Amino acid sequence: MKAICWYGPEDIRVETVPEPKILNPHDAIIRVTLTAICGSDLHLYDGYMPSMKKGDILGHEFMGEVVEVGSQVQNLKPGDRVVVPFPIACGHCFHCGRQEYSLCDNSNPNAWMAEEMYGYSGAGLFGYSHMLGGYAGGQAEFVRVPYADVGPIKVPEHLSDEQVLFLSDIFPTGYQAALNCEIKPGDVVAVWGCGPVGQFAIESARLLGAARVIAIDRFPERLDLARNHGQADVLNYEETDVFEALKELTGGRGPDACIDAVGMEAHGAGLLGKFDKALQMARMQTDRPTVLRQVIQACRKGGTISIPGVYGGILDKVNLGAAFGKALTLKMGQTHVQKYLPKLLDHIEKGDIDPSFVITHRLDLEDAPRAYRIFRDKEEHCIKTVLRPPTVH
Ligand SMILES: [Zn+2]
Ligand SMILES: [Zn+2]
Repeated sequence: MKAICWYGPEDIRVETVPEPKILNPHDAIIRVTLTAICGSDLHLYDGYMPSMKKGDILGHEFMGEVVEVGSQVQNLKPGDRVVVPFPIACGHCFHCGRQEYSLCDNSNPNAWMAEEMYGYSGAGLFGYSHMLGGYAGGQAEFVRVPYADVGPIKVPEHLSDEQVLFLSDIFPTGYQAALNCEIKPGDVVAVWGCGPVGQFAIESARLLGAARVIAIDRFPERLDLARNHGQADVLNYEETDVFEALKELTGGRGPDACIDAVGMEAHGAGLLGKFDKALQMARMQTDRPTVLRQVIQACRKGGTISIPGVYGGILDKVNLGAAFGKALTLKMGQTHVQKYLPKLLDHIEKGDIDPSFVITHRLDLEDAPRAYRIFRDKEEHCIKTVLRPPTVH
């Protein structure tokens, strides 16, 4: 089968590889009908994620048709059409019992690697390094899905692939980010980063009752989408002093909640931005925390910082004193996708939201090297790219 394989920074290739097999009675094999490139795939593309090996199959946003199930799988059968959550969860450990699926204790066979860096390991993820399980990803024609009774959600025939694909990650991720803000009537929520997750954080903040959403980015097409689709007020950080503008828009108090939908590869302005880039390149810090610094500074006293943007490691010059002095609540982490799926599928079915609004590029799986580059460099006004495997036309 064809699959998108990682060979090094900015080196991904479409390869012919063996098809996956059932390895465990709880596995299912899915024939992928649609997959997407995620902002967090760019951390792999740019070489910022340790423990990748040449030939690893990428991709954690995918859906398709069940073609084979292991002997113990109860909930799925061949022919079912499913969307698969990006975190792999066993369904019966301490954390799965608390619906903290992205913290599953059993799904990362290489937990020791993550434990060295983090103390304890989160769940294994599809196509996201050996430290996080070494699972083959879904940017391929077929994929093996472990714990098949826990993750995949069946989707009704009348919804298109494009309408439901983003249940795999970015819609629940934006939703959890907004949920973490504990939005109350009248609240103002500011969202840094109007990429796909930022867009879903904006939509979700609205669904959860925010009075006003303020979106921050520098790319006009992303700001336009936030304004026109998300009904957000927008700020271009290259043209505006974001801190002062937010202060002015909130009667001098600051936003009630601030969402960092950018994460570790933020583009910093000025000297501190250059300093971060240099430190990161010298591997003296793993992340560039420009946005994190800004959200801590801009948030109102007693407010909430919600971080769906991915961070990998050590940060420099983050003002924890400001977070302490203003009694901020910080919430973050990978998304417990499985927990939100029934509710979010219901929102799609009722027509509250059509997640396909973020798609700007529809390409073939074979176009992956170009697709990654366009997405990373924001060429052609790219916001979100979906890829179709060659067998699906
Ligand atoms: Zn993703
Ligand atoms: Zn578990």
